[in-house]
Amino acid sequence: MAPKRTQTGPDPLLVDLLSLPTAPFCEGYVIDYLRRFCEKRRLSFDTDQAGNVLIHLRRGPKRYRHPVCFAGHLDHPGFVADKMIGPRKLRARWLGGVHAEYFVGSRVRFFDHGDWIRGTVRSISPPARKKRRPVETATIDIAAPVSPHSPGMWDFPDPTIKGNCIYARACDDVAGVAAMLSCIDRLRRKKNAEAYFLFTRAEEVGFVGAISAARDRTIPDQCVVVAVETSSQLPAARIGDGPILRVGDKSSVFTPSATAYCNRVAKELAETDKHFIYQRKLMDGGTCESTAYCQFGYDATGLCIALGNYHNMDTKRRRIAPEFIDLTDYENLVRWFVALATSSSTYDGKDAALIKRLRNLERRYAKLLKESERRL
Ligand SMILES: [Zn+2]
Repeated sequence: MAPKRTQTGPDPLLVDLLSLPTAPFCEGYVIDYLRRFCEKRRLSFDTDQAGNVLIHLRRGPKRYRHPVCFAGHLDHPGFVADKMIGPRKLRARWLGGVHAEYFVGSRVRFFDHGDWIRGTVRSISPPARKKRRPVETATIDIAAPVSPHSPGMWDFPDPTIKGNCIYARACDDVAGVAAMLSCIDRLRRKKNAEAYFLFTRAEEVGFVGAISAARDRTIPDQCVVVAVETSSQLPAARIGDGPILRVGDKSSVFTPSATAYCNRVAKELAETDKHFIYQRKLMDGGTCESTAYCQFGYDATGLCIALGNYHNMDTKRRRIAPEFIDLTDYENLVRWFVALATSSSTYDGKDAALIKRLRNLERRYAKLLKESERRL
């Protein structure tokens, strides 16, 4: 059955989050939002030594030996203001994966003391050449002076809806963060639920917040980690076809039993919720935080929603553009999170359903295998 189209307008948490300024190492505005969110709801709010945020929520008695920890990142590829080098000229650092040819002439905005200040990229260093080298700094013609350390983003309006999609300055991974908060609000109304929610910093430069969290064991050891992403749509993983269970990324495959657990919970959910659809794919467009969690000894997998104009690159028109996601994919992602935090089937580090299937096959053909062996 086709998924139900969203009729009631987008999740207010999503609209709020997609309106906030953020950039790698400059995630303070999103963190302030999380802090207020927790204060209002009297939820725990902990930070580790890297400034990653951990929220733990439990309703009812302790049920899970291995609760799920959802992990999303707070930043998006962007600029961080360095210093004014002329009355209307700003030098800024660039952090994240956007190809050099997209920069010069593109419009940007910096958030400083409650206001957006607009500008245009004049030049970049190293300059765009045929051989792709990552951009490090940009010189920007700017409308007014900008304070050092202010975050800068591409100049697009607050979120807008077109069809069933929401377009924003940054969906990656602010939409993932919004989905996690939305899940928390739904879990608060449940009698029995448990999950951890980790919000990491500076993913876009190579998930250094997640590496630090994994090293410091910010996530309790017993958790099964589910990294949450928006990930570039691929020919076989399209926008609107449902949230995606990631079996791996560009660098590694994730813990098979953790992936199998998410798959099992999704199947159970699809049986009771006819509007829930999902996909299971290898999303090898980039490397995500699950790789770090796996390498540091956690059982980890990933869930994501397909993203249009990944990292603001409209590759058809070859210009900077808003990112977009499908609102029904988003809603189904939240439902999947809720199911994982409330499921009656618990994670045990094994793929119990697969083991059962293999045992049944073995039993079914055991006699035949033995008898035929004698005739060989
Ligand atoms: Zn990204």
